[in-house]
Amino acid sequence: MFIFESKKELISALDEEIRLGKKIGFVPTMGALHQGHISLIKQSVSENEITVSSIFVNPIQFNDKNDLKHYPRTLEDDLKKLEEAQCNYVFIPSVEEMYPEEITEKYYFGSLERVMEGAHRPGHFNGVAVVVKLLFDIVKPNRAYFGMKDYQQLAIIKELVRQKNIKTEIIPCQTVREADGLAMSSRNALLTKEQRQSAVMLSKSLFYARDNRKTNSVEKLKTDVRSMIETENLLSLEYFEICNSETLQTITNFDQCTQAVACIAVKTGNIRLIDNVLL
Ligand code: AMP
Repeated sequence: MFIFESKKELISALDEEIRLGKKIGFVPTMGALHQGHISLIKQSVSENEITVSSIFVNPIQFNDKNDLKHYPRTLEDDLKKLEEAQCNYVFIPSVEEMYPEEITEKYYFGSLERVMEGAHRPGHFNGVAVVVKLLFDIVKPNRAYFGMKDYQQLAIIKELVRQKNIKTEIIPCQTVREADGLAMSSRNALLTKEQRQSAVMLSKSLFYARDNRKTNSVEKLKTDVRSMIETENLLSLEYFEICNSETLQTITNFDQCTQAVACIAVKTGNIRLIDNVLL
């Protein structure tokens, strides 16, 4: 496995792979890798001749500076996991390497960015789009793998690729969960034992919504999920929305779309957790 900190050096190494006709799969991450990330790597390894991953805690996508400060960093362990998963190249740039100049790009994602994460985390998706566009320009992947765990981010990336005519194919990957249902997340490492126990209510309430979708109205499911979250003193609900899975706009009736998605965000202490299920 080759490790690069310099974009110039990574570009020239990958240009050689491209010249040899190799197909490149790419998995961008912010590190603190868990089995969710590794499942993306494994899928890329099985579908491409070369797999590239990046580890970059992207400061401009953090609207909460405290969140950035406490974001878990476990580089040595991450590199071990990537090597085991047969990743070929890892890019670990510094902030200066990624952003040598002032960032001026502004992306517009319309109604997609005005709901849920976009509404609660101002500037977040612009920061995500800026870094993903830069990384795609460097890696020039044939395919890039993104987790459905960050459902709205996936929709934003698909829209970015459409707007900029990027040739990379975006591959959505299933959410990997702990045995009790909690979606794996780097931020789970920050939870206390009590918070970790309470956090299982996110997936529990989402599975309840999924399992009762056929016999209940959107309104009823929303009320029920809110009360389930309220039973956990350590959790405070930021939003629970049932949306059209394509447009991410709220629906009031399941007849309004062919596929709905239920999305939730809660805070426990200073830690923010998100999850979703298709309904
Ligand atoms: P992050 O390091 O949080 O930026 O995540 C990097 C990539 O891994 C993103 O495409 C995430 O959606 C994906 N990811 C994070 N958690 C999971 C999970 N539990 N299952 C599948 N993919 C995930």
